[in-house]
Amino acid sequence: MNIHEHQAKAVLSEFGVAVPRGYPAFSVEEAVKAAQQLGGPVFVVKAQIHAGGRGKGKFEGLGPDAKGGVRVVKSVEEVRAAAEEMFGRVLVTEQTGPKGKQVNRLYIEEGAAIAKEFYLSLLVDRETSRVSVVASTEGGMSIEEVAHNTPDKIATFSVDPATGVWPHHGLMLASSLGLKGDLSKQAGKLLGQLYAAFVATDMSLLEINPLIVTADDQLRVLDAKVSFDDSALFRHKDIAALRDESEEDPKEIEASKYDLSYIALDGEIGCMVNGAGLAMATMDIIKLYGAEPANFLDVGGGATKEKVTAAFKIITADPNVKGILVNIFGGIMRCDIIAEGVVEAVREMGLKVPLVVRLEGTNVELGKKIIAESGLNVVSANDLSDGAEKIVKAVRGAA
Ligand code: GDP
Ligand code: MN
Repeated sequence: MNIHEHQAKAVLSEFGVAVPRGYPAFSVEEAVKAAQQLGGPVFVVKAQIHAGGRGKGKFEGLGPDAKGGVRVVKSVEEVRAAAEEMFGRVLVTEQTGPKGKQVNRLYIEEGAAIAKEFYLSLLVDRETSRVSVVASTEGGMSIEEVAHNTPDKIATFSVDPATGVWPHHGLMLASSLGLKGDLSKQAGKLLGQLYAAFVATDMSLLEINPLIVTADDQLRVLDAKVSFDDSALFRHKDIAALRDESEEDPKEIEASKYDLSYIALDGEIGCMVNGAGLAMATMDIIKLYGAEPANFLDVGGGATKEKVTAAFKIITADPNVKGILVNIFGGIMRCDIIAEGVVEAVREMGLKVPLVVRLEGTNVELGKKIIAESGLNVVSANDLSDGAEKIVKAVRGAA
């Protein structure tokens, strides 16, 4: 689960992290009030969307020369004008995709005088089973570019969960950022606070870009992006309450109610599969036959008929889906349950696009029988590539 920048900063400040003062705003009036409370002289008006690259982003309908989603201004009136322009408008950034995201909330912050911008992140490294720290002197801009063009400017080290952060980790961070004296001490303290926040709240990613040194030599978190491990949310009710469903795909929310993993993509073929590996293989082979997946929905192992029905409904409700491929390898999951769920969903919802079903494994004969006797217009497939070929043909033939 992702949260907004202002929420991330509030979480971090509970662990002692120094962040600039600021207030979230859901209307122009609230933005103005926030600015009045801050008092100036410099304000930053920041669009709150679940995507980075806001500073360089472009608002729809404002033309290419208009300012982006992060604006540094010098008066309450300018805060008002920026808020009026940003609220309700769609912001397109490198991370939102071409559709962009509508801005429904802002964060009004006191402005900082920036002397230096760094990059700092903490993330779970599955290979070492540790939290890795990634730091770079090249902050503020796209870290992907830095990693690609000048990888030597990125320092990485990991923290042993058994010991946590030690002073030498702080020194490693300080030296990779070129910080000395008091700033080196500040870096050590900050790292300890960030690590504590990361572990205590079960974050999977904590990215600070930029981490800045201010004109008066203070280390400050200027931007914060935080993702939490969904599997641990049950033990953090306060964190779970930060969820902003308006930032999420409604189909993904519906799927999460049934404990299904649903991922929306840009193509035309809906995929219902069981298991992440089979999902990847199914998408690869659809691409091999020249089409693109519209989504994939993983029903997992041991799903009930109700769950399968819900899954199939979610896929058929997507207007981008021009054909559906059901690809199930029944192990714990039984093919007859899949067949019953599909038949039930089609009875309720109808079926306006071609459907190819490939079943294999436990109770496969019974599953095939249920589909054959249902009278539904289903194309059955013998294996993975046969299924992919048939659905791509059916979709392309219909186009
Ligand atoms: P992002 O574009 O979504 O990553 O949003 P950021 O919060 O990182 O802001 C983008 C850029 O705006 C930062 O890299 C800074 O250069 C600039 N910026 C943000 N806050 C301030 C501020 O308080 N003062 C100044 N001078 N620049 C700021
Ligand atoms: Mn940033």
